[in-house]
Amino acid sequence: MPREKAAGAGKRAKKSGGGTGAVSLAARAFGQEPIEAALPSKLAPGLYVVSTPIGNLGDITLRALKTLASVSAVLCEDTRVTGKLLAAYGISARKIPYHDHNAAEARPEILRRLKAGEALALVSDAGTPLVSDPGYKLVRAAIGEGVAVTAIPGASAALASLVLSGLPPDAFAFAGFLPPKSAARKRALREWKSVHATLLFYESATRLAASLADMAEMLGARPAAVTRELTKLYEEVRRGNLAELAAFYRAQGAPKGEMVVAVGPPGGDADPSGGEALDRDLAAALSRTSLRQAVAEVAAATGLPRRVVYARALQLKGEQG
Ligand code: SAM
Repeated sequence: MPREKAAGAGKRAKKSGGGTGAVSLAARAFGQEPIEAALPSKLAPGLYVVSTPIGNLGDITLRALKTLASVSAVLCEDTRVTGKLLAAYGISARKIPYHDHNAAEARPEILRRLKAGEALALVSDAGTPLVSDPGYKLVRAAIGEGVAVTAIPGASAALASLVLSGLPPDAFAFAGFLPPKSAARKRALREWKSVHATLLFYESATRLAASLADMAEMLGARPAAVTRELTKLYEEVRRGNLAELAAFYRAQGAPKGEMVVAVGPPGGDADPSGGEALDRDLAAALSRTSLRQAVAEVAAATGLPRRVVYARALQLKGEQG
């Protein structure tokens, strides 16, 4: 379980013990009165897709707690991770592994149980199942078998990133993880380029700088935000255009933790030729050295492709001359 922003909430909940149930424990942890509506109760049969926190233990809904406390078993991406969450709220549900490596094998038995009238919950390690996490094939199969499927919504890193990014929220597209290798990543980015929406990419710390450089090359210097460690103690949002962010993380090295990259739509505030920062860097370099040398320096500093920097340098020289 990642570090909590509301430090100690989980520990306090665990220590309070006494078999008083999830609601009472949650109430003690967060200073509320116990809420009757969240006490365990008999659930209608079916599959319950339950969102869990993405870092801050407090980001679980009362309905999620009630569901997890009431189902006959919880299907977990990792039983240890979910075990810690359940323990923090005093829930002692049966846990069944359901992850990428056993899903095909485990699904028939899960479907048999659902068709026999059981209520089962599906969770992933963090956030909303199916969103870059296991569950899609199970939901499809359950729908196909006429089993009731219910979403218990809650945290997801994609939406938290969107609202903090400062980028247009009216149309957005969740793009998941880009391919790890640059050539495939660029092909994928080419597909996203014409989409008129804020794009949300999940990314790993080690690939962040290379991904941002490919994004700058393929999408232009659009406004973007790297949103990191959302809901946790060291939550951070770094905004800039893609070229600036690529240069920053290239210089800084891989940041710690988990991150989502939000990228503004084409047009809008973005300057596809590289933005004001590029113009500033180029003007400074051109004032003291040759075009060739200025392009080489600025391309190295920003992580932008030389041809993008070269084209902009020619434009700037043309505008001046
Ligand atoms: N199902 C999850 C959800 O609803 O957000 C996503 C699971 S996916 C396997 C994990 C990725 O989500 C991470 O690599 C990161 O890109 C993003 N992520 C998850 N938690 C995050 C957090 N607290 N802050 C930033 N990004 C996060």
